Order: sequence, then structure tokens, then C-alpha cells
Amino acid sequence: MNIPSYVARNARKYPQQEAVVEPNGRHTWAELNQRVNQLANYLHDEHGVDFGHRVALLLPNNFAFIVSYFAVQRLGAVVVPINVRLATPELEYIIEDSGSDLVITCELTDAAIKPLADDGTNVIWMDNIDDLLSGLDSDEFELNVDQDDACALLYTSGTTGKPKGVLFNHNALSAVGTMFAVEMEYKPTSRILSLMPFTHSAPLNLCLVGGTMVGATHVVAPTFTPDLLLDLVEKERTTHFFGAPVAYLLTAQHSDIGNRDLSSMTHWIYGGGPLASEHANLARKAFRSDKFYCVYGLTEAGPTGCVLLPEEHGAKAGSIGKRAAYNTEVRLVDENNEPVKAGEPGELQLTGEGIMLGYWQNPDATDDTLTSDGWLKTGDIAIQDEDGYYWVKDRQKDIIISGGVNIYPREIEDALAEHPAVLESAVIGVEHPEWGETVRACVVLNRELSDPEATLKEHLKPLLADYKIPRQFMVMDELPHNANGKVLKHELRD
Ligand code: AMP
Repeated sequence: MNIPSYVARNARKYPQQEAVVEPNGRHTWAELNQRVNQLANYLHDEHGVDFGHRVALLLPNNFAFIVSYFAVQRLGAVVVPINVRLATPELEYIIEDSGSDLVITCELTDAAIKPLADDGTNVIWMDNIDDLLSGLDSDEFELNVDQDDACALLYTSGTTGKPKGVLFNHNALSAVGTMFAVEMEYKPTSRILSLMPFTHSAPLNLCLVGGTMVGATHVVAPTFTPDLLLDLVEKERTTHFFGAPVAYLLTAQHSDIGNRDLSSMTHWIYGGGPLASEHANLARKAFRSDKFYCVYGLTEAGPTGCVLLPEEHGAKAGSIGKRAAYNTEVRLVDENNEPVKAGEPGELQLTGEGIMLGYWQNPDATDDTLTSDGWLKTGDIAIQDEDGYYWVKDRQKDIIISGGVNIYPREIEDALAEHPAVLESAVIGVEHPEWGETVRACVVLNRELSDPEATLKEHLKPLLADYKIPRQFMVMDELPHNANGKVLKHELRD
């Protein structure tokens, strides 16, 4: 068993059924399998891609991404999906850290990858798949890929701020995909709408991998907008959608939502953050549906974790449910990994086959995150209420989650520090009604700037993806520190 074998199986079982629907076309399982085989042969013969190599994908959600994802894995190589919104230095870091010797991209990402391509990075442009692959050998590549072989490296950040590669093998992805297929009742007739980038573990492993395992149809588009969500649900009669809470809040405010036919949807799934009770009610009312599922998890867990079912939303919206997802176990423990007393805060830990193998070439971070008996320390502090429901209280790590996307303060602080007028900075998340959190930079300057906000934004632009650039700047005389000189971020937040 390996992940691309599901594509080959679907091509045999449902050759003429739609595999992928995207703005530019509709593609059957037979066609997808043929393109995967052709690209695998091309990558192997023309670019020397082989077992264990890493290949970066810098593509939005489209047919090219899906073909490339499975083709790389068919060769026994490891896929490294990279967010198309990253700036050149961020791309460069991931390409180097992962040791990717090839980047598959398209014109959309031209600006950021161009300097690296000019500098010698090996790049394939997948703008016209027909031109690239037509006439090439479509024989299935001779596979010798085992379920224990690594197949995906997803970049995320920890407290240090530098992105870390999270490594999975075929078995782990299969376990995560199975979990979601079972929990969300995927069928070959399901039509899964994916507007959140496949470069994040949830859309990738829960929607793309999980849906492919059962032969469901993927309806994809490169970006999320409330308009697109409503249009595609109506036009494509989709059944499942996964989005961050903000996607629901923005769409709930759409003036036309009441006129749209959303009756095909059986599963409205959200995760990456909670929908507070009043927001969940707002969404259920606006979408005229009570089929809301909350999923909790994190990249390092696959992301498997916990599920809050539709019928539990009435009393427990805002919590992450009271049970681990299929194939997963959850526990709440103190710093010695002993169970906490009822009602007391503890760290959520998860175990199951979907958990990562470890961080890429970072044994220390892996040891800090996985216990010797196979539990993943999530870094999330939660309490369990008298009915057994888990409520996530705080993140141990200082990650800011804005619109379901993780932003790592340290990365921004490092970039700010590169400006000569910045003496010190601390980046924090401040509450935002729609995005959950928004980024605020508290900065101490060593000389006066006539317009600090404009100057610092200009400085950050070429260094960071746009969504990481602070929306608010606060110039301060000094930052609060503890005795060891560490900035007291909780004081800043207060
Ligand atoms: P990521 O690794 O990007 O998937 O981010 C995972 C983090 O998002 C978790 O460690 C939690 O802090 C947070 N998170 C994910 N899902 C939920 C949820 N349903 N409710 C609350 N926090 C969540």
C-alpha cells in the first residue's frame, strides 16, 4: 500500500468518474492516473528524480498540484508542498533545509521563485500540462514503495520561529486519510470542495488524501473567497467543505447567502481554531444547516485529533469535543506526563498511527515533542469539563493564528531586527472579530522615524509573505522584561 496506489485503483474502479474539477477543466480518474504516470516517468527520465529525493511543489490548488503530488510519491520520492504566498528568502530556506533538488511551479508564483530559478534552482513550470506531458510514456512506474517509506515533508514552525519539516510516511497519511473518511462519511459520490491551500496539512491530508482513498471528487480552486465558496457549492453540488473559522464568518456575512442553494452540503467542517458558541450559531443560521463539524488537530499529528459533532454544537460549541477521532487517542497531562485532576488545565497529547515520524533532520526538536511511549506533545493547554469535553485554553507556543493560518512571531521579529532603526521588537496576536487574531508589532526604536509604520512595512515587504506583515504597529519606549531579559509577552497582550 502507498498513497498513489489509490489513484491507480480509482482509475480501474471509476475510470470515467470525475476526479478533479477546477476552474479550467474537469478530469476523470483515468486521466489523472495517466497524467500521474506520465509526470512520474518524465521526472525520473528527464530530471533524475528517484526514491527518497525531495521535490518541492510551489503550486496553488489546481490539477497541476494534484498530478505532481501523486507523481512524486509514485517514484518513492518525498513531496514538499510550499505555500505560494511565501517571499523569496522564505522559499529559499525551505528548499535548502529540505534538500529539494527540484521545484515544480507555475507562472502564478513567478515573482518569488524567479530569483532562485535565475540562480540555478532546478524549476519545472507546469502551466500547460498538455504541452509538457502529451505523448510521453504513461506506463505505470515500477513501484517498490513500501508503507514505511517517507512520502511528505510539511513545513511548520515551532517556538524558534524557523520553519521545521514534519515528516510522514505512507502509512501515517493513510491512517489520517482513513480517520477523516470514517469521521466525515466520505463516499465515492462525495464531492469535496477544497479552497484552503493544499500546502497545509488539513486540506492536504484530510481532503486530498482522504477523499482520494475512497474515490471522491475534488472540486478545487486556487483561493478562497465567500463568493467562490457559494458559487461552487451551488454549481458543483458539493457535499463537504473544510475551512478555517474565518471562512465561515466571512461567508455568513455575504449579502446573497440566503438566496443560495446549499442543500447538497452534508458536512460543513471547520478547524485550526474554535468557533465560539455565538459564532457557531451565526454560521448555522446563515448557512441554514446544523451539519457543522469541528475538528481539532495539528500538523505534527497528521492532523488527527478530536471531533465535535453537529449534535454537540448546541451545548458545547467552542470546545473540541470529548473524544479522539477514529484511530487516535487523546490524554490531558501535567508536565510529568501524569493525568491531571478533573477540571485542571493540562497539556493535550495525542497518539495514533497518523502521528509524524519526526522533524526533518532535527532529532532534538523531535525528542522534545514525542514522548518515549509515542505520545505527541501538542503544546496546547486545555481543561476537561464535567461532561468530559475538552476546551483549548491557550497555546504554549506563542503562535498567532490569523484566519486559520499560523504566523510565527519570532520570524517577524527577526525580520524587523534587520532594520537599522529597530532596537527591539515583540510581535503578538491581538483579538480580531473576524480573523481570530491579527498581528501587532511592539517596537522600540533607536532613532526617530518620521513614519515608523510605513517605513517598517516597506522594510518587511520583500522579506515576508504579506499575511505575516503586522497590521498594527506600536512604538514603545521599552518592552517589559523578566529578570532573565526575556520579553514578557503576556504583559504586552494585557
Ligand atoms: P497547525 O499545526 O497549523 O495545524 O496548527 C495547530 C494548532 O491550531 C493546534 O495546536 C491548536 O493550537 C490550534 N487548533 C487547531 N484546531 C483547533 C480547534 N478546533 N480549536 C482550537 N484550536 C485549534
